[in-house]
Amino acid sequence: MTISGTCHCGATRFEVATVPTEAVECNCTYCSKAGGLWAYYEPEDFSAAGPDRVYSKTGYNKHHFCPTCGCQTYGVSPKWSLDGSHELDKFRIGVNVRLLDDFDPSGLTITKMDGRHLW
Ligand SMILES: [Zn+2]
Repeated sequence: MTISGTCHCGATRFEVATVPTEAVECNCTYCSKAGGLWAYYEPEDFSAAGPDRVYSKTGYNKHHFCPTCGCQTYGVSPKWSLDGSHELDKFRIGVNVRLLDDFDPSGLTITKMDGRHLW
């Protein structure tokens, strides 16, 4: 079952193939300031529409956000693992589950990622 998400102003929309059951809370310098709670998907299980801006400090992680309201909608990153290892040639989509429509993230299994110290 697909589930959709929207930013606060509604201009940016996205959809993923399945309803998430778990999410990652990362404490890296970006995620802690953005306040995102991320569920990861393969690129083929994700689509987005509407205006979009991208912020990337390192070039590896691309943080997408709505240019009107500023909500952090999703990110494109190499496949990082919780131990800090990664595959730079394979990408995944991290959707901000706080933006999913009619979805309560309080029931998700949350994994903490120590991104501040892993890379
Ligand atoms: Zn917006």
